[in-house]
Amino acid sequence: MKTVGLIGGMSWESSAEYYRLLNELVRERVGGLHSARCILHSVDFAEIEELQVAGEWDQAGEILAEAARGLAAAGADFLLICTNTMHKVADQVAAAVPVPLLHLGDATAEAVKAVGVGKAGLLGTAFTMEQDFYRDRLAGHGLEVLTPDAAGRAEVHRVIYEELCLGVVREESRRAYQRVIGELVDQGAEGIILGCTEIELLIRPEDSPVPVFATTRLHAEAAVRAALGE
Ligand code: GLU
Repeated sequence: MKTVGLIGGMSWESSAEYYRLLNELVRERVGGLHSARCILHSVDFAEIEELQVAGEWDQAGEILAEAARGLAAAGADFLLICTNTMHKVADQVAAAVPVPLLHLGDATAEAVKAVGVGKAGLLGTAFTMEQDFYRDRLAGHGLEVLTPDAAGRAEVHRVIYEELCLGVVREESRRAYQRVIGELVDQGAEGIILGCTEIELLIRPEDSPVPVFATTRLHAEAAVRAALGE
């Protein structure tokens, strides 16, 4: 089994999910007492969030690149950046290490396409929904991506940073997300990408009238397949 290197802490609420999912998925596939070989570098998210807001992406990228170098030196065979948003600096991180980076956008797009969804709504941070780096990656796989209107994007973003990254899951926010999902479905979305690794703590498949694509789970599944050589 290969060793997975996790660049996490963004936020640790979802990194804990990654750790749980990796181990559960290895146990499901291999059985017995088998568990995932992995190494986690968990950053201080406050520092990253400040750099995001200031638009200092190169500096944030260097923090993640340094983490990546440490993981590779410690024996990680490949790396995951455990957040959609920070895939903005995926190229910078990948260039810093001799081992491959398993891109979350690719794992997601492949899963969306595998079930025949061609037009998907995207929920995530404002950075993920409004900038090109993530939508273009999905579009590169032939997906059509819809994002919420300005008010919807602001609410989705607010809930991520003010609630989900702090471990707060509120029924009121679930209803707000359901309203946004409903609007995207009305515009033709055949599926909804939960394009922030904390959203699946709030939105479950039964909360949406169309299939949801939970990026933490999809990333962990892709990592386990890679680790087991499937
Ligand atoms: N975990 C989130 C994501 O997947 C948001 C936190 C961050 O800004 O990295 O985008």
